[in-house]
Amino acid sequence: MELLSRTLARVKPSPTIAVTTKAQELKAAGRDVIGLGAGEPDFDTPQNIKDAAVAAIAAGKTKYTAVDGIPELKQAICAKLKRDNSLEYTPSQISVSSGGKQVLYNALMATMNPGEEVIIPAPYWVSYPDMVLLAGGTPVAVEAGIEQAFKMTAEQLEAAITPNTKWLIFNSPSNPTGAGYSWDELKALTDVLLRHPHVWVMTDDMYEHLAYDDFKFCTPAEVEPALYDRTLTVNGVSKAYAMTGWRIGYAAGPEKLIGAMRKIQSQSTSNPCTISQWAAVEALNGTQDYIAPNNEMFVRRRNLVVEALNAIEGVICPVPEGAFYVYPSIAGLIGKTSAAGTLIENDETFATALLEETGVAVVFGAAFGLSPNFRVSYATSDENLIEACKRITAFCADLT
Ligand code: PLP
Repeated sequence: MELLSRTLARVKPSPTIAVTTKAQELKAAGRDVIGLGAGEPDFDTPQNIKDAAVAAIAAGKTKYTAVDGIPELKQAICAKLKRDNSLEYTPSQISVSSGGKQVLYNALMATMNPGEEVIIPAPYWVSYPDMVLLAGGTPVAVEAGIEQAFKMTAEQLEAAITPNTKWLIFNSPSNPTGAGYSWDELKALTDVLLRHPHVWVMTDDMYEHLAYDDFKFCTPAEVEPALYDRTLTVNGVSKAYAMTGWRIGYAAGPEKLIGAMRKIQSQSTSNPCTISQWAAVEALNGTQDYIAPNNEMFVRRRNLVVEALNAIEGVICPVPEGAFYVYPSIAGLIGKTSAAGTLIENDETFATALLEETGVAVVFGAAFGLSPNFRVSYATSDENLIEACKRITAFCADLT
């Protein structure tokens, strides 16, 4: 009998974590490495949030809590959804987990059956297809390339829906492209869903607050209230509040689904970290004043990177609406050879050669389901970004 489960053979480890680990290894070995792979803000968790955690520890709030979140946090989430998204939820419709990642995983584990499909616009966050596979379902990728600004069209969604479609996973602003759907673009998609009452929407709003220029974030249940009863709105504190390590994510949706997710969590991890939950209460209820200055910094960095990459012959880098990623195309570089003699056959060989020859770590596009591209996370210092862009430019200029 095989030790490992057959399900496990269908999934791969997270490639973004693999790139970060490789970059850390090279750094530990003394190489001068600039990591543009990690998907987390480079600034510290705001002080008021840290203080709330320290106060929770001092007050002895260090025991088990209700499986899917303390009432105070569920209240704060309901208030946030009303304030930011005009959505009405009660605490019984809220689930809190150890990160948005666990929320999405619970939802898929709670709903998928063999043969059922999940529509995932590509490029996508690396974990969606593998989570669907782990849950026993079938991911259906729909390619939304650079020529359509990395956004799925209504026609594509219509064509991808079958009687077996259970979910559409929607993510705006997106990881890995930063593309954000306007109200009208999203309405075109929700209009399609109205015609297919068996399809649910899992919307991953993790980058809601990282929205730039005149882009206005919107979410499916807000754009089309008639979808409220079949929408799971997923969000978290990791990105906007620089709380990636605290591991708090949440979802709002129909009670039946929230109850099923609670059942899974009750038999796996139980409650998310009690202290982190109290910190998240402060993140959501406390001042939001640092979000705007942080966004100004991100816009400056985004512009810096986009400008530098677009100046490279063979690279095309669209300007994204949000998040902290750019996803340039390197179609013009495929088939060339690097200074050290590596043939750039695809985006994976490009990223590997770039790391080995220049010490710049990026994630190759195939990991996100759309090639030939690479993802840059610009959530790092201007100094790092300027030096990294200089090295990428020199690497590309040396390709023959
Ligand atoms: N969704 C997207 C699109 C992400 O990029 C991430 C993190 O990288 C997550 C969900 C998970 O975030 P967390 O589990 O830290 O809340």
